[in-house]
Amino acid sequence: MPSTDEFTGWIGLDAKSVEGNLVKSTFQPKVFTDDDIDIRITHCGMCASDLHTLRSGWGPTTYPVVVGHEIVGIVTRKGKNVTQLEIGDRVGVGAQVQSCLKDDCYECTHDNEPYCTDGVYTYNSTFANGDLSYGGYALQGRYPASFAFKIPDALPSEIAAPMMCGGITVYSPLKRNGAGPGKTVGIVGIGGLGHFGLLFAKALGSDKVYAISRSKAKEADVLAMGAEGIIATNELGWSQTWSRKFDLIVSTANNADMPLKDYLSILKPGGRFVQVGLPEEPIPQVQIGPFIMLNAGLLGSLLGSRSEITEMLELSAARGIKSWVKTYPMEEVNKVLVLMEDGKAQYRFVLSN
Ligand code: NDP
Ligand code: ZN
Repeated sequence: MPSTDEFTGWIGLDAKSVEGNLVKSTFQPKVFTDDDIDIRITHCGMCASDLHTLRSGWGPTTYPVVVGHEIVGIVTRKGKNVTQLEIGDRVGVGAQVQSCLKDDCYECTHDNEPYCTDGVYTYNSTFANGDLSYGGYALQGRYPASFAFKIPDALPSEIAAPMMCGGITVYSPLKRNGAGPGKTVGIVGIGGLGHFGLLFAKALGSDKVYAISRSKAKEADVLAMGAEGIIATNELGWSQTWSRKFDLIVSTANNADMPLKDYLSILKPGGRFVQVGLPEEPIPQVQIGPFIMLNAGLLGSLLGSRSEITEMLELSAARGIKSWVKTYPMEEVNKVLVLMEDGKAQYRFVLSN
């Protein structure tokens, strides 16, 4: 049973909502528990996952839905078990709002909360009591406090918001797969996630970081983000030129027809390719040969752990890392959705209230 409280958000009623048809209306958030906080949402980044979900691209979405999982807001209410946050604190909430956090859960006790089988996502997901979760294209939000993170003072809210999903989703696989001194790292797809890939691969101390993009159109930007260069996959022979050069590639590509065989061929022997982009269609069949011949690893990765989120925010504050954002009033969300659908997000749109 959801609560009888009414929050206001921009609601998707069907798959056509992705075309810029969200409706501003009220919804009933989850029932408030002693472990929850309410926040007044000030900012919410727009992730490609919001669009996949609005159009039911990953399977049927439960409508009505309020998407948005790159949230920053101010705590306005807290349950009596919440000791780590105070009313008035500025917090971030990402794409996961719950895991079991039990002492006997291997994942939750090993910094692997995204992989807990009892995980709840920020929207289009169901809490244990059956209440639906609602995201951040809204004026208010209600979330378990254990997945709300204090934002360091040095990080402006519009800079921090897109880190809560876009940032952590690349930070985690970069960190876990050894991005750092002595390593050459490639980032496929320079959008919201990909631009963080360049920023964080550099911040972790990687020797060389390259953008792997469909063309050279973003060259000036990726150099300004700190990359050594851009590899354009629309140029003939690119994979031969870069054969066996990369220790690690993190791919944010959204398209099922990605040239996976070429991507693998630019790994050094023993290199790893981590896919985080989640296309709606299956990727083409791949031969096992290239994996064997290069001792290569193909991995997936989901979000990041709570400790990684805290670490990423602290690193970003300490180093002055700045997300490349364009901010719009949340009232204009439908206009911005259309821009995003047209691939015009360079590099993250952030909605503000
Ligand atoms: P963006 O749209 O901001 O960026 C995607 C990038 O992929 C584009 O900028 C583009 O880069 C490249 N691309 C290649 N082919 C295509 C194509 N046919 N259409 C559009 N883009 C293409 O998306 P996000 O960064 O927000 O998200 C990327 C993916 O990651 C999505 O599938 C999203 O759902 C997923 N995701 C996964 C998470 C996880 O935990 N694993 C968490 C969050 C998101 P270029 O122009 O440089 O080629
Ligand atoms: Zn996301």
